[in-house]
Amino acid sequence: MIGIENGKGGTMEENVKKGILYIVVPCYNEEEALLPSAKTLLEKLGELRNSGTVSEKSRIVFVDDGSRDRTWELITQLYHAHEEITGLRFAHNRGHQNAILAGMMYAKDFCDYAVTIDADLQQDINAIERFIAEYEKGSEVVYGVRNSRNTDGFFKKLSATLFYKTMRFMGANIYENSADYRLMSAKALAALSEYGEVNLFLRGIIPDIGLTSSVVHFDVFPRMQGKSKYSLSKMMTLAADGVTSFSIKPIRMVFGMGILALLVGFGMIIHIVYEHYFGYTIDGWSSILMSIWVLGGAILLSLGIIGEYVGRNYMETKRRPRYYFWDVLSHDQICRDGICRDGFEREEDLI
Ligand code: UDP
Ligand code: MG
Repeated sequence: MIGIENGKGGTMEENVKKGILYIVVPCYNEEEALLPSAKTLLEKLGELRNSGTVSEKSRIVFVDDGSRDRTWELITQLYHAHEEITGLRFAHNRGHQNAILAGMMYAKDFCDYAVTIDADLQQDINAIERFIAEYEKGSEVVYGVRNSRNTDGFFKKLSATLFYKTMRFMGANIYENSADYRLMSAKALAALSEYGEVNLFLRGIIPDIGLTSSVVHFDVFPRMQGKSKYSLSKMMTLAADGVTSFSIKPIRMVFGMGILALLVGFGMIIHIVYEHYFGYTIDGWSSILMSIWVLGGAILLSLGIIGEYVGRNYMETKRRPRYYFWDVLSHDQICRDGICRDGFEREEDLI
């Protein structure tokens, strides 16, 4: 069989079986959890490599999200000790979503697929094999969905349930209880890189890409080392990003309220006129009440209309890709400066 070079140093035949896996781990003040987690991850990667599931070129990428403790120092030590460890470091704390994105965008040029997982390894790392199995069956994105929330406190459970319900109600296409533990193929990562928005909510954006996907269920364990790095304010910001970056439904609700208020207003006019002529009303009551209802409705409606334009403008400014090619079959070559895309020289140079 003819092996075709695929630009990643192996033949396609080889890499179908042995994909290059990059595990992306966001870390914020994780000095307690980092070393035990790195040990577990290295063991897992070793297992996957030895069993021939993933390529020898697979890596673990730690993204230090501007930690103020010894996290970077530990990542540096790990990098010097292990060939398969890569470290990236932010100058400031840019948040979990940005850390994951940065890791994935780094990985996309080297890997066949990347898996993101939290530094505390609360998510069951044994699900990675199942992620890979789904990828090999043809999924470009494999979502990790947690089995239960038994390890979470009451507040976290309640806030998470409320959050997912609100998100779905607002029209975002999002899996309930999907964590940022998932596999994305190089193609899905390339598609994701086209989304230029600043308010990132990956759990909403990734389903929006629309590539083939599947779901793998996994267990969640309690955090072993250190404390949760997701403060209440960080959680609220994430929720606000989730709702506002995916939907202009709240604006549409204002519009709906405007129409409702106007309808009630017109009903009230009949009631007011009736009361004015046949009932007992004090001076000024009719005109004030009418103004309140009709004007109130008109104001809400106008706000809704203005909001619709603002909302559309908002969606436009994100400059999301309109489409993404899944595959391209073409005999065309793009040649620039005598070099063509597939590595051949320009036809006239060959003659
Ligand atoms: N994290 C991050 N930046 C932040 C907050 C958290 O990179 O600003 C990382 C953190 O180091 C961990 C992951 O995001 O790897 C999830 O955080 P954590 O486990 O504290 O959240 P929880 O499990 O409590 O929701
Ligand atoms: Mg955690």
